[in-house]
Formats: sequence, structure tokens, C-alpha cells
Amino acid sequence: MENFTFKTYKKIFQEALNHKYQIITLKEFFLDEYDKDGNILVNRVDVDIKIERLRVIYEIFKELNIKASVYLRLHSPDYNLLSIGNIGIVQDFISIGCEIGLHTELEDVQHYCNIDSKELLKKEIELFEILFNIRLYGTASHGDMTPFNNLDFWKKHSVSEFGLLYEAYDKKLWNSCRYVSDSEWTQWKAYENSQLLKDDRRNPIEHIREDMPKVLLLLTHPESWYERYIYE
Ligand SMILES: [Zn+2]
Repeated sequence: MENFTFKTYKKIFQEALNHKYQIITLKEFFLDEYDKDGNILVNRVDVDIKIERLRVIYEIFKELNIKASVYLRLHSPDYNLLSIGNIGIVQDFISIGCEIGLHTELEDVQHYCNIDSKELLKKEIELFEILFNIRLYGTASHGDMTPFNNLDFWKKHSVSEFGLLYEAYDKKLWNSCRYVSDSEWTQWKAYENSQLLKDDRRNPIEHIREDMPKVLLLLTHPESWYERYIYE
């Protein structure tokens, strides 16, 4: 059985560092701010629920001296990003050089709440920039159990309309990487250059040891990780 303890979480990044991977943010990837001769692990964290588990992840990143892009929601039924405690968690990540991005739910909000998603996104970007005293470079679309695909927003819009650098599923990254994700909670899944690697349930440590992908895009979610038990 796959082990999703924080101990394993830390081991993934230690393994990458042992194999001389540069662990970078998506902003750095899209700005080509890394050594092209080496391998990279693009470190993406989507905070769908259980934002409090970010505290442990923060300690791990701080200890290993590594960065990530952390995408946060404004419409999560589970956490209030505007709570003072949660602003503090995000500030901790910023203090160690992490990138903060917006985990968007633009199609869901448009359909369920009849809110103009284009105007909403502009305001959400502005809010993030005020809240966290940053410039926002990118968004990552949240996938949920709704009939809507939040990525569809970008069929009608371009990132430059909003002064952004990227959407996390932009082709430059998505079409030329090994993507390994914990989004099925209890098992891993992988894509190679946007194509699903069917039945490939290897964990990131195995991907690194066996294949050493040049560009490894790792997506993790705090809610998948725990000390002892998933619902702790
Ligand atoms: Zn999500």
C-alpha cells in the first residue's frame, strides 16, 4: 500500500535533491530561471482543503531549503483564506521564497453564482496582491466534482489580459514534462508530455530513481498527506 505520510513527503524532495534536481517554482519555469543543463522538479502544491496541513509542509520546505508554487482558493468550502491565521501561513511560505498563486474556480463560480468570471478574476488577482504584498504571476485551475471544467475559462481568455505570466496547464510545461500527481489521494498517477501513462502508479521517488525525467512536474495536495492517518 502506498504511504502518504509526511515522512514520505519529505523523502520525495530529499531524493530529488540527492539526484541533483533543481527544485523550482512555476514562475521560475515560465521565466526560464534555472540551469537548462540540469534536471528540474517543478514543485506545485494545490490547496483544495485542509489548509492547516500546509504548516507541516512549510516546515519540510524550510528545512530542506526548497521552494514551491502554492495555489490557494478563495471559494473553498473548507477554509477561509482571509482568516488572520491563514494569511500568516501564506506569509510563512513567502518568507522562504515560495510563489503564491491563485487556484481558480472561474467556471464554477460563473455557473453557480452568475458572477462575471472575467471581472471576478481581476478582483481576485488584486486581492491576492494586496493580501500577500506580492505580484501574482500565475493561476492553476481547480478541478472539482462539478460538471464544469474551470480550465475552460482559458479557451475564451489569455493570461496576458490579466497581466499574468502563465496558467499552470500552459503547453510550455504541460506538453514537455513528466507530470506526477497525488490527486487520487491514495495512489499516484502520471502523464508524459500530456499523455496519461496508463496504470503507472509509481511514486515520485520511483520516477526519479528509474527514469530521471528531465522535467518532473510534481503536484501534491496537503489533504493527501498526514502523520499517521488520512482523517487525523
Ligand atoms: Zn484543486
